[in-house]
Amino acid sequence: MKTTSPKPVSPFARPAHGFADGFADGFADGGPPPGDNESMLGTMADNSPAGSGFERLNRELVECRRCPRLVAWREQVARERRAAFRDQAYWGRPVPGFGDPAARLLVLGLAPAAHGGNRTGRIFTGDRSGDWLFASLYRTGFANQPASVARDDGLALADCYITAPVKCAPPDNKPLPEERATCAPWLRQELALLDATLHVVVALGGYAWDTALRHLGPVRPKPRFAHGAEAALPRGRVLLGSFHVSQQNTSTRKLTEPMLDGVFLHAWELLGGRGPARD
Ligand code: SF4
Repeated sequence: MKTTSPKPVSPFARPAHGFADGFADGFADGGPPPGDNESMLGTMADNSPAGSGFERLNRELVECRRCPRLVAWREQVARERRAAFRDQAYWGRPVPGFGDPAARLLVLGLAPAAHGGNRTGRIFTGDRSGDWLFASLYRTGFANQPASVARDDGLALADCYITAPVKCAPPDNKPLPEERATCAPWLRQELALLDATLHVVVALGGYAWDTALRHLGPVRPKPRFAHGAEAALPRGRVLLGSFHVSQQNTSTRKLTEPMLDGVFLHAWELLGGRGPARD
């Protein structure tokens, strides 16, 4: 398998990209997101470079309302809120990707969780799935801390970018095929922005596996998803499979910490070396 040399970068030195930062005024607080988008944009303090492709992309993304069912659901959840978060304002909008804008590793999930990303405004943030994912990324050297609880928690990723094929929380965590198709252009744009650096994709679950093959293939015959599966993609890229970090998988020990760490450690091997020291 072709490998590339480690990049001579200081881990975590590159600003992590988290578009929802600075959008506090845009949070739904007991109702749908406010319509005064200009004042929201005026408060934006995204830490990606001003005018960068990611900044422009995510400015448009957070306004997206193309899927009526998902828009209704994300805003209903934001209005009603879970009892434990009753005192919090929910994001209630499309959730952008997060991480290193020049990442070689892409982690692909499914969609934001209703009370995780849809609440906090950052992917895999504020729920048990995120606890599992970021703890593993920390242990394996892709994250500067194990916790991911809020947009201002100081989390940064090195050489890793995380996103989902569907940007809005779906009922029962099950987007419809037409919703994935409708959302595909957003993912396509993210992949275009990562195109120069992207080398390894970790697909969390079969849905992400299929999505990666659709966007980064073709690969014939189509490789089957499994935990630990590995498939060669065009242009020397590599697709790795992992069971999703859902509570259903982690609470039943279908997915364990060593299993997940093993996938990310293998990603480092494919990138040409073990993860950077964090301290
Ligand atoms: Fe827009 Fe994607 Fe959300 Fe549909 S799922 S409303 S396309 S951001």
